[in-house]
Amino acid sequence: MQAWKDYQEKNKDRFLDELLELLRIPSVSARSEHKDDMKKCAEAVKQRLLDAGADKAEIYPTEGHPVVYGEKITDPAKPTVLVYGHYDVQPPDPLELWNSGPFDPVIKDGKIYARGSADDKGQFYMHVKALEMMVKTGSLPTNIKFCIEGEEEIGSPNLAKFVSSHKDLLKADVVLISGDTWPGNCPFHGDCIEGLASGPAIEARSGKPAGSLEFDSPVWETVVHALAQLNHLLVVTAAPQRLLIGGGVMSAQPHLFPRIRRAVLESLNGYLHIPQVLNDIDRFIAPPGLGTLAGPLGALAIAATIEL
Ligand SMILES: [Zn+2]
Repeated sequence: MQAWKDYQEKNKDRFLDELLELLRIPSVSARSEHKDDMKKCAEAVKQRLLDAGADKAEIYPTEGHPVVYGEKITDPAKPTVLVYGHYDVQPPDPLELWNSGPFDPVIKDGKIYARGSADDKGQFYMHVKALEMMVKTGSLPTNIKFCIEGEEEIGSPNLAKFVSSHKDLLKADVVLISGDTWPGNCPFHGDCIEGLASGPAIEARSGKPAGSLEFDSPVWETVVHALAQLNHLLVVTAAPQRLLIGGGVMSAQPHLFPRIRRAVLESLNGYLHIPQVLNDIDRFIAPPGLGTLAGPLGALAIAATIEL
């Protein structure tokens, strides 16, 4: 184990520089004006896999953005790990809420602020560097394959087709997806909505009160994800007319509503043809009309309608 740690220590500045370079590519899959950036990013990922010691790395075109595949086969008799990741990122707007450019990475308090730093370039790049460290120190215990797609942020419309038409290529014993491993802080359920998206949860995770976090903190992405998943679930199971999200966090963080709406539309991906969702999402997912007083005043409003 010591050998790879030494290698990591010796090369960590270069590792960081390489990641920052990747973060500077505005690989926004949802915007057609970034089509060339997507290609550039796929090329960069391919080259990084080869530099890290992959036997081969290739770009597979799809009907949308390409998939990058790479592999290092040490011994066909050994188990194979398939790493999944994605090199595309979400659109960075609203731009005025960023303190620094979304594609101009800044390091502050040991954290990288840039679109894609926490979803998912930072994560999959960690695996690419793990490959390099193990190859260079002769400590790779398995075969390893990489499938890094470019359409995760738009619902992966071409991934299923790619996977089903490349079953042999992607054959593996274990699939490794780097994502969120924070256990949440609800004392009863851990990572329920309260445990992931409430003020105390945000503070437990970031070490700072939610109100003091900057808009571009990666913690907000996890809050947006949790709330978008909840809303998605409600749309597909409960046929709601509207979804109102109240509470202190939502009322103090105006950037969350547009981000949640966008994430819900992306995850539904046109699956359900509900006009109020597709055409009027701003009204469909909205704050309660009574604001932060919705709890007490809402109860009184309902009580007033009850006939005894
Ligand atoms: Zn809970």
